[in-house]
Amino acid sequence: MTLLIKNVTICNADNVEEDADILIEGGMIGKTGKNIQAGADRVVDGQGLHAFPGFLDLHAHLRDPGFTHKEDIVSGTKAAAAGGYTAICCMPNTKPVADSVETVRYMIEKAHGAGFCEVLPVASITKGMQGRELTDFAALLDAGAVAFSDDGLPVTEDGMVLAAMEKAKKLGTFLMLHEEDLALRGEGVVHEGSNAKQAGICGIPRAAEECMTARDIMYAEKTGAHIHICHVSTEGSVQLIRRAKGRGMRITCETGPHYFSATDAMILDKNPNAKMNPPLREERDRQAVCQGIADGTIDVIATDHAPHSSKEKAIGIEKAPFGIIGFETAFALAVTNLVDVGIIDWKDLARLLSERPNALLKRKGGKIAAGMPADMALCNVHEKYIYSEGSILSKAKNTPFIGKELCGRVTMTIREGKVTYDRQAD
Ligand SMILES: [Zn+2]
Repeated sequence: MTLLIKNVTICNADNVEEDADILIEGGMIGKTGKNIQAGADRVVDGQGLHAFPGFLDLHAHLRDPGFTHKEDIVSGTKAAAAGGYTAICCMPNTKPVADSVETVRYMIEKAHGAGFCEVLPVASITKGMQGRELTDFAALLDAGAVAFSDDGLPVTEDGMVLAAMEKAKKLGTFLMLHEEDLALRGEGVVHEGSNAKQAGICGIPRAAEECMTARDIMYAEKTGAHIHICHVSTEGSVQLIRRAKGRGMRITCETGPHYFSATDAMILDKNPNAKMNPPLREERDRQAVCQGIADGTIDVIATDHAPHSSKEKAIGIEKAPFGIIGFETAFALAVTNLVDVGIIDWKDLARLLSERPNALLKRKGGKIAAGMPADMALCNVHEKYIYSEGSILSKAKNTPFIGKELCGRVTMTIREGKVTYDRQAD
């Protein structure tokens, strides 16, 4: 099947080209350029649309196997395709934990069967995420795991995280670290600050994240391992990582769209859908995250898509589980809160959502050019709309952005030359 996209603005990390055509043949990009004349099975009018290389989410929870009342691999990948994603990394905190070759294969194969989005499993660092024994990294890599994480939990034991770094380095892979001192978090459920006090809710101090980030930077410096810091949310974490990068360390990091789009003012009405971990911080943290994105300290925007059922979230902010969904709002939140306010441009957005995450995983992709896989998202970057619950394709609806005005909408997603999402047809 051949597909010809006409008159689109191509946004790559290194270049923006207006009024260009894209010819897709056999799942690959055959050609890009002006006025391509070719017979195609389907012609898409790209007038007014921007084409980005397919987004790659480094951090998502698909809840499958084990928690499929929240989300499953089919509903999750469908929602991801609607968000412009062509590949997503899923975290191992499933049931069973993704600490075995069988579970890793199950995730890959189920996603492959559904066909919406490629799933790249992140296997657990420790067996059962118990923090006591390392998993078989080599076998898990062989099975298709792309990195290692105990996300949802920190690797608390110093000896364990050091051993994991040594092993990751030896095998040429990296650790994705959820940085949290559980003792410092204590009973906290939202950011520790005046808003938590006003709402009468127990807070989580910035230090809970920063202490562990600082520790792991020291150990990574000692071992020479590549570490990737998950969901950076505080000014202090951004500074620690900026300094580490300045020393030439192999450290990368991500932030979530909510950390540059919102603050802990959102928890004043005790909305359980504004509860995630790490929590929404203060305006100065939000600005530091924006600055980190602008200057390259923050490498990647990752959703931390964390679906929960309405029933689970309905028990009040204190008891409700941490997490919000993110696939279907990441692009719009980035357009609305980063591009439209002048913090980054379209090239930066292509870098943060596609080029960098692809490079991190050493994948061929992240660029719209001849010879690359035909993975892309066609977007109307100027479309303004109110985000509604009815539009959500994920099984879960736990997001604080319902009812908010957003700008930027994915209209079509193409993966390996096949249309995986088409808003017109939806
Ligand atoms: Zn986490």
